[in-house]
Amino acid sequence: MRNSKMSPATDLAQAGHFIDPETRAVVPPITSATTFARDKDYALGGYIYSRDGNPTYDPAEALIARLEGGAASLLFASGLAAASAVFEPLRLGQHVIAPKVMYHGLQDWLRILSDRRGIAVSFVDPTDPAHVAEAMGSETAIVWIETLSNPTWDVVDIAAVAKIAHDGGAMLGVDATVTPPITCQPLALGADIVFHSTTKYLNGHSDVTGGVLTTAKDDAHWADINKVRKYVGGVMGPFEAWLLLRGMRTLAIRWERASENALAIARHFDGHPKLERVLYAGLPGHPGHDVAARQLTGGFGGMMSMLVNGGADAALNVAKKVELFVPATSLGGVESLIEHRASVEGPASLTPKNLLRLSVGIEDAGDLIADLEQALS
Ligand code: PLP
Repeated sequence: MRNSKMSPATDLAQAGHFIDPETRAVVPPITSATTFARDKDYALGGYIYSRDGNPTYDPAEALIARLEGGAASLLFASGLAAASAVFEPLRLGQHVIAPKVMYHGLQDWLRILSDRRGIAVSFVDPTDPAHVAEAMGSETAIVWIETLSNPTWDVVDIAAVAKIAHDGGAMLGVDATVTPPITCQPLALGADIVFHSTTKYLNGHSDVTGGVLTTAKDDAHWADINKVRKYVGGVMGPFEAWLLLRGMRTLAIRWERASENALAIARHFDGHPKLERVLYAGLPGHPGHDVAARQLTGGFGGMMSMLVNGGADAALNVAKKVELFVPATSLGGVESLIEHRASVEGPASLTPKNLLRLSVGIEDAGDLIADLEQALS
């Protein structure tokens, strides 16, 4: 009954219809071994040492590669271990184009690469692909975008940017952390590598740090990335890989509920007298809504921001007054989080000082709306 037309929700729920070939267990075992014995002929049985690979990674990597429509996936110890591995093989003088508004941790890392390693980095606004085209040069090796820019949720036309990158001889890497493969498949839109911090929606329970890269092609850059994981050593632990697979089994249903809740909240607060604006790609008034509707075929997800009237103090007051939303960083878990983003991003932050970022979870939408109403009042 397993076939190529099988829905991603089915593939996820059954973790790739996993049945252990030896024990018939429906859940994979955790292989905690760091090393694997040779046989009497001194031959290896497929694994050598856990920094090179571990059987516990295999079902999670295979499932993600299938969902993304990619050639292969690699798990890493954190989102940043994965994302930085894409840039690690760059050589002196090569050039990267990345968004002005993006996850601040990776942006900081790109600035450090540029200062210390002689990699040129241009930060542009990719919501207008013409800005990417203008920044392209003969040394441009990687164009990097986010499906929805964190934390303003601007929308980037992936296919348009992929064409510009390829026409200029560069590859396109896409951070799709906030839009998992059940809603968006960047590789099908022309991207070469797709990245997720699995700490977020893929695991979904705020209890495992991890990252994953998936490649469209098993090419030379992918071989370099394999070497980075092996020699820099940012490998995921087997227990974390096992928890990730367990979390992914409920991704489809979590995503559906978070998307419904976020849309209900966005509609309720759009035009609210205490707010300057609600930023949510699922609202028809959002400037990127049409592109988002085309690219996010399974829902807009749980990430949104609110610009509070009255500046930073008013926004911070709301973050202090919520009772259900948890005032914490991160996103994509079952519990709703709220965060004054500029406080976390530090002095280089371009984020409006009155912006509150919401990661909407799977609780009751009415309870979440009531909590925000009481905090705003
Ligand atoms: N990309 C995005 C969009 C993120 O939100 C984050 C973390 O917040 C990361 C990358 C980094 O992932 P990690 O914290 O797992 O290293």
